[in-house]
Amino acid sequence: MATIIKGKEVAEYVLADVKARADALLARGITPCLAVILVGDDPASQVYVRKKKEKCEELGIRSLQIHLPAETTQQELLARVEALNADPSVHGVLCQLPLPEQIDEQTIVRAVRPEKDVDGFTCRISADERDLMPCTPAGVMEMLRYAGVAVAGKRCVVVGRSNIVGKPMAALLLQADGTVTVCHSKTRDLAAVTREADILVAAVGKPHFITADMVKEGAVVIDVGVNRVAEKKLLGDVDFEAVEKKASFITPVPGGVGLMTIAMLMKNTVRAAAQQTI
Ligand code: NDP
Repeated sequence: MATIIKGKEVAEYVLADVKARADALLARGITPCLAVILVGDDPASQVYVRKKKEKCEELGIRSLQIHLPAETTQQELLARVEALNADPSVHGVLCQLPLPEQIDEQTIVRAVRPEKDVDGFTCRISADERDLMPCTPAGVMEMLRYAGVAVAGKRCVVVGRSNIVGKPMAALLLQADGTVTVCHSKTRDLAAVTREADILVAAVGKPHFITADMVKEGAVVIDVGVNRVAEKKLLGDVDFEAVEKKASFITPVPGGVGLMTIAMLMKNTVRAAAQQTI
């Protein structure tokens, strides 16, 4: 039976350090500040934005909420981002995704200055300590560290190649000296590839897509997927019940990687504030 890596436990561990760093900044008269832009009224986005605000308040981080109408143009949004880029009292800037269809997400994501890009979407993933790492993949790396899972030399398989999860996840595992394979919808004989994995990361967006026959005995299985299958029911990409019996470590959904994403956002915000006020 696998050991469950609990997101709450790892997030609390990370946030204790973030709080200490935020307090040290406050003692110097610096209040870390995160600006979150929400365009439109998508209910899920509203929930995410509210959670970010609450977490900021818990940590003594100033939270600036900018709510724009759904018909906001790209130019108007760019002007808002530019103003926040130029404001020295704001240390982190993010636009809640998805954005309305008249706005090109990549243009907006790239408009945020790298030192304020607390989502880490523009990160080059190098060994540079100053880089703000992409939150979800960085959260996975924290979970592996916390569980004592060494990545160096391991065969790592990431299923999914999105710009915000799959690709940066693969890059971070590679940075940690894993031997990394990235799979996607065109991968042939996916199960044969996933069965090779010592560390398997699922970021597909399909409920219970990874079944026990796709997992090697003793593998570490990380489930990034969040799939809403009923109003109050979330399922991961991994068939948890079956895979738990085979894996050595596994993350649950809910209560897994999702809790790490917001913790890493807070970490990036405080780190950005520290770097901008040296
Ligand atoms: P995307 O839809 O952008 O990417 C999904 C990836 O899965 C694509 O690369 C796609 O391949 C691949 N894929 C789809 N079908 C298959 C298949 N049959 N076989 C192999 N690969 C397949 O999703 P995201 O990366 O944004 O998110 C993935 C999941 O993670 C979602 O459930 C999302 O909700 C969740 N998520 C969770 C977060 C958290 O905080 N826990 C944060 C962000 C996302 P191709 O490129 O070929 O189309």
